[in-house]
This record gives sequence, structure tokens and C-alpha cells, in this order.
Amino acid sequence: MPGKSILVVGSSNTDMVIKTAKFPDPGETLLGGTFFMFPGGKGANQAVAAARLGGDVTFIAKLGNDIFGQQALQQFQKEGIHTDFILTDPQHPSGVALITVDAKGENTIVVAQGSNGTLAADDLAKAGKEFERADTVLLQLEIPIPTVVHAAQLAAKAGKKVILNPAPATTLPETVFKDLYLITPNRSEAETLTGLSVRDASAISSVSKWFRDKGVQKVVITLGGEGAYVHDERGGRYIAAPRVNAVDTTAAGDVFNGALAVALAEGTSLDEAVQFANRAAALSVTRMGAQASAPYRDELTSLL
Ligand code: ATP
Repeated sequence: MPGKSILVVGSSNTDMVIKTAKFPDPGETLLGGTFFMFPGGKGANQAVAAARLGGDVTFIAKLGNDIFGQQALQQFQKEGIHTDFILTDPQHPSGVALITVDAKGENTIVVAQGSNGTLAADDLAKAGKEFERADTVLLQLEIPIPTVVHAAQLAAKAGKKVILNPAPATTLPETVFKDLYLITPNRSEAETLTGLSVRDASAISSVSKWFRDKGVQKVVITLGGEGAYVHDERGGRYIAAPRVNAVDTTAAGDVFNGALAVALAEGTSLDEAVQFANRAAALSVTRMGAQASAPYRDELTSLL
């Protein structure tokens, strides 16, 4: 039986990863460890995570007319993702990300957005029916902001639950917030968007209220190994993640969001959806890579 419908509008990149004992200082050259090349990009990562967890996923994105774009498209098809609305930009290369991962599993990432930067609001018109068909619509900020805002508008107008993972954090037009069912920043994204600090329990509650006052219905702030803080009309609460041995946190947030979209599309409560997302994301940090680390649904039963 096909799962519930999830529409992801976002970026696709090829991630080039080098493991290193420590991050280089400015001007410093280091000999790193092993080199890996993985499909990535927040949109693609979240689409793959949602598909592996049982979602019936449609992905709207723009690739370059190059080997990276061709490989990405094949990968999405292999994952069972609907690719009818993936466009090709003849003029710009596919997006790439240069990533370093240190001995503690922390990462640094620089992205050249390429064709992701030309996915325009007008490009969404052809996919209008997908906004009607979706149960949840999942957005991030690695494509032009007007496109994100338009996607949120289309989805909200169709009465769909819009989840915005506001990463990488950037200034957003105030009008977008009323179209959001859920916003899912990590700590630093929450601070950048609100201008408030997220140091302790009272600060995290104030940050969540800031979003809700702007019109967002529900807020989930991800807290790395500590799990997530949830805030809605019932107030705020922490939901812990399982304890695991983290080796690479790349795309933990993406797996978390993909999982959240699946669980909410299936009609589970927000708390249950966050528990499900914590389990999926915790499992992903025990493995290397972005899409490569996203778990399949049957793997989650072992991690309670
Ligand atoms: P990234 O940028 O590395 O993809 P993020 O900064 O967007 O991640 P985090 O808050 O670091 O997001 O992590 C997202 C979720 O991943 C957490 O809410 C938690 O469920 C899970 N997670 C991350 N790190 C760990 C960890 N060390 N142990 C268990 N779960 C983790």
C-alpha cells in the first residue's frame, strides 16, 4: 500500500566529504583522511528520508545539465520518489557542497547552489495538482526565498500542513509565517531568525512564542543529542532522543524533518511524530553521509 503523500520542494546537491582530525584554520592546508562523494542537498535529503520511512514522495527541484544532475535523478528514481516535476537548468551547474567532518563527528559545509538558485516561483505552476494531492508539504531555504514563500502559500491555500525547516537560516518575509503549520529550526537557526538567544528553558520558550505570535501554529526546535523542544497551543515540552554513538551528524536535521513529514501525514500527534523523528535522526547519526545515512522504516523498531 503506498504511504501518505509528501511534497518536498527544495535543493539537490552533490556532497563531497573529507574526514579530518581537526578543521583547518584560515589559510591552513591539512592532509585529511578518506574522501567520499554522496548525493545531498537539504531538499533531496528530506525527500529520500521521507521515502525510506514509507512516504509517497514527490520532489520538486532543479538540476544542472551535467553528470551530477543525471546521477541525482537516477538516485531519486531508485528511491521510488516521483520525479515528474524535477526540472533541468541548461545554463547553471548542479549544486555542490564541500563538507569536512572532524574526529568528533561535527561538520562544516560550504554550498555552491548552482541550479538550485534558479528554481523560480513560476516553476511551481506546473505542479499545482501535487499541492492538492499532498498530505504534508516540506520546505527548506536552499532555494530562492520567493519560491519558498510561494510554495507555502499554494500549500496553505490547498489546506495542507506546511512544514518549514528554516535552514540555512536567513531573513524571511513576515507574511510567510501565517502559512506555516510547523517550523523546525535548530538552536542557531532559531537564534538567527528571532534575534533572541536560546540558552535555557525560559529562553527557548520565548523563542517558540516569537514564532507563534507571528502566526506559525506549532514549533519544534531541534537540540542535537538532547532531542527536541516542542511548543504548541498546549505549551512547551522536551522530547528526548535515544542515546547513540554519533559518528557523523550530517543531515541529522534532514532525516528528522523527513520523518516528521511522514508521521504528520499519517495523522499521528505532534509528540508522537517528534518521537518518531528523534528515533530516525538518532539512527542516522550513527552512520556516515547525508542520504546514505537515512534509515528505512523497518530499521527503527530496534531503536526505542
Ligand atoms: P545537521 O545540521 O547536523 O543536519 P541540525 O543542526 O539541523 O543537524 P540537530 O538539532 O543537530 O539538527 O539534530 C537534529 C535531530 O537529530 C535531533 O533533534 C535529534 O533527534 C537527532 N540527533 C542529532 N544529534 C544526535 C545525537 N548525538 N544523538 C542522538 N540524536 C541526535
